[in-house]
Amino acid sequence: MLSVDEALQQVLARARPRPAAECAVGLTRGLVLAEDIASDIDSPPHDKSVVDGYAVRAADLADGSAELDVLEEVTAGAVPTREVTRGSATRIMTGAPIPAGADAVVMIEHARLVAPATERERVQISGKPPVLGQNIMRRAISMVRGQIVLAAGCELRAIELGVLAEVGRSDISVVGRPRLAILATGNELVPAKEMPQAGQIRNSNGPLLVAAAEAAGATALDLGIARDTVESLRESIARGLQSDVLIISGGVSAGVLDLVPTVLTELGVRQVFHKVNLKPGKPLWFGVLSAAAGDKLVFGLPGNPVSSLVCFELFVRPAIGCLAGRRDASLDQVAAELAMPHVHRGDRPTYHPARLESADGRNLIRPLRWQGSGDLRTLVDANALACFPAGDREYPAGESIVALLLPGSN
Ligand code: AMP
Ligand code: MG
Repeated sequence: MLSVDEALQQVLARARPRPAAECAVGLTRGLVLAEDIASDIDSPPHDKSVVDGYAVRAADLADGSAELDVLEEVTAGAVPTREVTRGSATRIMTGAPIPAGADAVVMIEHARLVAPATERERVQISGKPPVLGQNIMRRAISMVRGQIVLAAGCELRAIELGVLAEVGRSDISVVGRPRLAILATGNELVPAKEMPQAGQIRNSNGPLLVAAAEAAGATALDLGIARDTVESLRESIARGLQSDVLIISGGVSAGVLDLVPTVLTELGVRQVFHKVNLKPGKPLWFGVLSAAAGDKLVFGLPGNPVSSLVCFELFVRPAIGCLAGRRDASLDQVAAELAMPHVHRGDRPTYHPARLESADGRNLIRPLRWQGSGDLRTLVDANALACFPAGDREYPAGESIVALLLPGSN
């Protein structure tokens, strides 16, 4: 049986970035840029004041104080009309262009208006002699016209969207958002809005996987529930194979109605592996459908909700990262000390729901009391999975183990 690492390598080797597409910037947060972005402007566009104050000639204030004629007032958005000459100053607000002749700005806190005895306004400035260039942000110091300000491959966060606006881009080329389809399978399943009758349970995996896919940066198409018949599975799976990735929950174990692998094979999906050495999640099935526009990835996740979640985190999330063009699609793992002793029994590496806290710069992890892969409720308190290697062992408190973070948790 493949190890988790081997299985993940098999998945990632088949997950190629989606083709680039033109997209309105407002819709690109979390996507990866597919072109280099050059600035169409100098920023700032002019020498500008970074404080509210007086634009002066530093030489006039060599002693630190002087009384100067106020030529005019320039606020942000306005343009100076007068040159600052010896003995004069311009009142200037943050962001406004520095007038010709001025070589420093003195903060308004160091200036006091002299009672206007005449119609000429005068200002008394005192304090330390200004340094040349003080409080002036030079034209183009942040970016020069033509400069590449964002490189292809960068992930677009709020910051990058701000930079794109600064350089006037409203449409950009990005790696296309991966499209996932999610199909729940099982004769026992009813939609959340229905009260289960004898033998039935609600479909919790559908909404869970749709939300997980969207949180991981994909669009999710909810295909609802298929029954455990070849016909029902065939119809829903065929629809799901229109997407880049199809996630099927249930029907991949060894039960008499676990028909998913058979139907996938019949529809041309080539099995890459079936079963991985882990708990929960051992029956995981993974295959590929060759297509001209790029291979489709198909994951058959075991139906128990926690098994589905663990397989999503270990295999589907990194695959989404690769399809989305992210450079780092590796798992988010940290070392953590057990906050309490833990007994692990089992011959498979186990991902045990846990609570990770950091205290005094140390990561402390507390495995939760958990009733197994059908117990999703306990995971409400989890923000990580504690990873225990195969083999029966008592772990003392303080022992360091690996923890896999559950993204979006608090
Ligand atoms: P399976 O992998 O189809 O054998 O299902 C394993 C277990 O998970 C069974 O107890 C199923 O009832 C349960 N299960 C399967 N699909 C879902 C689902 N969509 N939501 C909640 N539980 C499920
Ligand atoms: Mg089933």
